[in-house]
This record gives sequence, structure tokens and C-alpha cells, in this order.
Amino acid sequence: MNPRIRKAAPLVGAAAVLGGALLGWALDPHRKVPLHKILSPAEWVRHWRGVDCYDPAQALLEEGSPDVPEVALTFDDGPDPRYGPEVAAILKQKGAAATFFLVGRRVKQFPDVARLLAADGFELANHTYNHQSLPALKPHEIANELRVCDRDIWAATGRHTTLMRPPGVQYNDKVLSVAKALGYVTVSWTVGARDYDADTSSDFVRERVLDRAAPGAIILLHQDTPATVAALPAIIDGLRAQGFRFVTVSQMLDRLHAALPARPAGP
Ligand SMILES: [Zn+2]
Repeated sequence: MNPRIRKAAPLVGAAAVLGGALLGWALDPHRKVPLHKILSPAEWVRHWRGVDCYDPAQALLEEGSPDVPEVALTFDDGPDPRYGPEVAAILKQKGAAATFFLVGRRVKQFPDVARLLAADGFELANHTYNHQSLPALKPHEIANELRVCDRDIWAATGRHTTLMRPPGVQYNDKVLSVAKALGYVTVSWTVGARDYDADTSSDFVRERVLDRAAPGAIILLHQDTPATVAALPAIIDGLRAQGFRFVTVSQMLDRLHAALPARPAGP
């Protein structure tokens, strides 16, 4: 063989493998890694370090284990007096675990709905007191948003929270470090139903979730959207038909053997 061809062969092979991987990614309808992550060297480093699902340094959960067919249904912005009880009844009837990220202000307004979610055995988590964008706040204000929400969930249900999701899933290093110092894991998402618009149809919500679900998916839904309530039975049945089991976010962290942040001692 021509020596120049022999020298170039490994490079051509590597380029072909990389090209094939990129093509496979582009054609995969179930892909859950967005393009900005593929192109980000920081994300490649996280992947290489094995912290792309859960990063203990930041106490940030981005997805569950991709090796087991488990997904987490998460519902933000409750407790909602109109649809919360119906969402809980559907989940209960179908035996599906779920995690509810509650807004403290609404827990104070509708403690009965929060109590119902707790009594039905769902996981309750912290979605701040006022549902403000956290990166704009000072560290002590972020801490206050989390503490007051936790206090109100505790007052209504007797439970404390260890998971938080920032409103709009907007966070930066400051938000992550304040949350971690208070003992919280910050929970992101991988499949968004885009169910926050009032005119979203239940068909759209159902298809979007069923098309994008993958092992380890954290599915972001809202409990105050009629389209989501209408789509929920078919979402649960459809995911089961694809072979997925439902777990809480805490169970997802257990599966990853995640090193959780220490809870601060306090009153
Ligand atoms: Zn929210």
C-alpha cells in the first residue's frame, strides 16, 4: 500500500466513525442531547468524568441513568386546586410514581391540595416561594425563597424537601451553590411537554412526551394545564407500552448512587 495512504487510513477511519456518530445523532428521533451540548467542550469533559447525569460538585441532576428503562414524571407550579386533585387521581389509579415541585405561595393558599399529594404518596419538592427567576436574586434572597417554600410545605404536610427546581429552570453557578449549601439537589429536565401555553393541545403534549422519552428521562409537565390532565392517561399508558417504569426523582438519584449534599444543621 502507498505509505501516504497507510498513514492517512487511521485518520480517515476516525473521521468516518465521528461522521457516523454525528449522522446517527442527527437521525435519531429519540435523541435527548441537544446540539449545544454536543458542541460544548465543557459537556464532553462532564461526560468523560462521568458526571453528565448527576454532578456531585454542583449537586445538579440533569437526567437519570441511561442504562435502565426508568423515567420520572415531574409536575411544576402546583398545588393547583382546579387540576391537582385530578392529576393525583390519574397517577394513583394507574400506579405511576411522580414528583411535584410546589410553589410555596400556592402551598400557603391551597394547603389541602398539598396535603392530598402528600397523602397519596407522591414526592414533594421545592419550586421556591415566589416563583421568581433566581439568577437575578442575591444569594440570601435565593436562600430565603427555598427556606420559606420548605417551611410552608412542612407546615402543610409535615414533610421537608431535598430537591429543588428553579423557576423556568433558570440557574447559574450562584443558584447551584446556594441550593447545595442548603442541602438541595437542583433538578433539571430532559423532555419538556411545552404545556405552559394555554392553547397547547393534549395531542401535542402526548406526542411530544411519547416521541422524546428515553431511559433516564426527566419529564417536565405542569399540573395547572388542562391539556396535560387530558393527555396524562395516554402518556402513562404509552410510556408503559414502550417499556418504561415510573420512578420518583429521589429513586432516580438512588439508581445513580449519587453523592447527595449534606443537610445543614439547623432549627
Ligand atoms: Zn414553574
